[in-house]
Amino acid sequence: MKKVKKIAVMTSGGDSPGMNAAIRSVVRACAYYRTECVGIYRGYQGLIEGDLVPMTARSVNNIVHKGGTILKSARSKDFRTKEGRKKAYENLLEHKVDALVVIGGDGSFTGGVVFNKEYNFPIIGIPGTIDNDIFGTSHTLGYDTALNTAVEAIDKIRDTASSHNRLFFVEVMGRDAGFIALNAGVGAGAEEILIPEEDLGLERMLESLKKSRRTGKSSSIVVVAEGDKSGRNVYQLAEYVEENMPEYEVRVSVLGHMQRGGSPSCFDRVLASRLGVKAVELLIDGKTNLMVGLKDNKVTTTELEKAIKGGHTIDMDLLRVSDIMTT
Ligand code: ATP
Repeated sequence: MKKVKKIAVMTSGGDSPGMNAAIRSVVRACAYYRTECVGIYRGYQGLIEGDLVPMTARSVNNIVHKGGTILKSARSKDFRTKEGRKKAYENLLEHKVDALVVIGGDGSFTGGVVFNKEYNFPIIGIPGTIDNDIFGTSHTLGYDTALNTAVEAIDKIRDTASSHNRLFFVEVMGRDAGFIALNAGVGAGAEEILIPEEDLGLERMLESLKKSRRTGKSSSIVVVAEGDKSGRNVYQLAEYVEENMPEYEVRVSVLGHMQRGGSPSCFDRVLASRLGVKAVELLIDGKTNLMVGLKDNKVTTTELEKAIKGGHTIDMDLLRVSDIMTT
């Protein structure tokens, strides 16, 4: 196997807090192991267009605390084509890059696997997405920060909900995964939590809200994941409750992209630092097609294909805990 002398790093797909800390970690680990490093701007699209820059330990000063990604991120249609990937490969050869670290979500890993199959190019993935929906790691980069952002926002909404005896529906991110809704909901003391993994039924939600009302609650928060299974969007849910509980003034708040931004939490910075170092060490050891992740607070590896296809499991017991908390 060819010795790895130069590693490229990119961020791809949706950005998430902690990506900068991960770039910093990859670059500094390369410097530590005397391996050259280049940054690729705008993910796979930048790779196709040859947008690569050399990076040294000093290129990543003062970014550990910053949200977003200094390398920018992108979605690339061209990389889905054979011609696009050929151009990407040629650019890697031209810059004498031997291996690639991809920081992104399952789509970015899928692109990496396809590329590796075609060109046998060494790739390690670092899971970076706020949704936490990747198999093989208990936490993805940005998830912890997004949770804290959501909880802080819901706390603020609660202030206004309780001042006006209102019922608030708060939509958080998560089209396929309810991690943010469930954990932020429990953390912020929501009365009900609606997630894509389970259809609790509208009747049950109504019953629970009525019970809360009977037992003296004058305001309530319902946290809804974007992809919840009720078949209604958050505005339709609010309408449904308003029709059936006219005693409540119902309001909707969609948190949206604010959940993706902001300075990463300490947890995400530490995680990014650990995963970046491991990614570089694996490539130098000649490993490929792996994702680095966290299990039982230990850095572990999972085959990229498994990470993509493995699905995710949510801690349903937390829903039970949430029910008990709203008694
Ligand atoms: P997020 O979780 O935030 O959506 P992601 O990494 O899943 O992040 P995607 O947009 O799904 O984001 O994927 C990022 C990029 O990976 C795509 O724009 C595309 O360039 C590449 N990619 C995804 N799937 C494939 C594929 N089957 N073949 C080649 N490239 C792919």
